[in-house]
Amino acid sequence: MQDYINQLPKLAKDKHKENKTFFSKLKKKPPKQLDYIMQELHEETFKQTDCLKCANCCKTTGPLFTDKDVARIAKHFKMKPQGFIDQYLKVDEENDYVLQQVPCTFLGTDNYCSIYEVRPKACREFPHTDRKKFQQISNLTLKNVAICPAAFDIVEKMKSRFKN
Ligand code: SF4
Ligand code: SF4
Repeated sequence: MQDYINQLPKLAKDKHKENKTFFSKLKKKPPKQLDYIMQELHEETFKQTDCLKCANCCKTTGPLFTDKDVARIAKHFKMKPQGFIDQYLKVDEENDYVLQQVPCTFLGTDNYCSIYEVRPKACREFPHTDRKKFQQISNLTLKNVAICPAAFDIVEKMKSRFKN
């Protein structure tokens, strides 16, 4: 797994042009069954993916924290929301709360998340490959294929599925 993760930025770079063209066509004319097929590809791929052997999302990119995330996680630590923000978060250029540092502070050396039950919504949904109207997040997906081996595989499977 680690070898594949190490190669992913180069693999994604090599596929970038092809992926961009594919998503631009997909946006213009989304296939009728896109939501259904994405669900299928997502489930099939994640059945074969052991995130605990990877954790590359938690190591290299952090989630954004919504106010609800902050309130829930602060409560879990019996902290005030502002105390949690001061200790763990910063505001990024888009005015969102993000982690002060990556790898994520809550990631253990065994790749387990220490706040799994209350983790941010963005962590629960990453890499968003089962979301409806998937074509609308193509710019994000073009970035995620360089981080997430499952997202990379799903996009490759999509291209074969929607070849014509
Ligand atoms: S979601 Fe993707 S990047 Fe994150 S641990 Fe699972 S396979 Fe790895
Ligand atoms: S909160 Fe948990 S799931 Fe989210 S990035 Fe940190 S370790 Fe990963």
